[in-house]
Amino acid sequence: MRLILLGPPGAGKGTQAQRLVKILGIPQLSTGDMLRAAVAAGTPIGLQAKAVMDSGALVSDDIVVGIINDRIDEADAKRGFVLDGFPRTVAQAQALDAMLAAKGLRLDAAIELTVDAPKLVDRIIRRAQEASAAGQPVRKDDDPEVFKSRLAAYQRDTAAVTPFYRERGILREVDGMAPIDDVACEIDSVLSAVAAA
Ligand code: AMP
Repeated sequence: MRLILLGPPGAGKGTQAQRLVKILGIPQLSTGDMLRAAVAAGTPIGLQAKAVMDSGALVSDDIVVGIINDRIDEADAKRGFVLDGFPRTVAQAQALDAMLAAKGLRLDAAIELTVDAPKLVDRIIRRAQEASAAGQPVRKDDDPEVFKSRLAAYQRDTAAVTPFYRERGILREVDGMAPIDDVACEIDSVLSAVAAA
C-alpha cells in the first residue's frame, strides 16, 4: 500500500502514520524526521536546512524530492510506504508522480486529515506546554509564533496539493479534529475501500 497523509502541521499525521506502520508493516517516510536527522548529524543538507526549518518556512523542493527518491528505493519501502509531510508543494507532488512512474509504481490513496485552524493552534500550544511540563524538549518550530508561520506556509504552498490529488480521484478526507481512535477508524475504512476497489 502506497499512501500519502495530507493535512497541516499538528493535524495528527505523525500519530496516524505510526499506527499505519504497525498495522500495515510498511515504513513511515517523514521528510520532517529525515531533515531533523540530517540537522542532528550535521550533514551538508542538514546545515542548509536548519535555519529554514527553525523559521517555519519550507526547505527547497530539490532537497526533499532527492531525499524521498533515495528513500523509496530502500528495501523496506518495496512493499509500500506512508508519506508524512511530503509532498508539500504541487511541484513536489508532480515530482513524486514522475519518480513513481519511472519506477513503475503508483499511489493507492492520499488521505487528508481536515482541521479547524484556530483549534489547531490551541492544540499545538497545549502540546508544547505538556512537553515542557514533562521535562521533554519542545521542538523549536512548535513555538506558537513559529507554528503560525508553518500554518501560513501550509495555507500558501501546500493547500494546493489537495486539489491535485482530488483531480486524480485518489483523495480521501477524514476529520482530523476527531479523537485519535476515531480518526484511526475512519482511516481504516478508507483503506478497506481502497483495498476492495
Ligand atoms: P514537519 O515535521 O513535517 O512539520 O516538518 C518540519 C519542517 O521541515 C517544516 O516546517 C519544513 O521546514 C521542513 N520540511 C519537512 N517536509 C518538507 C517538505 N516536504 N518540503 C519542504 N520542507 C519540508
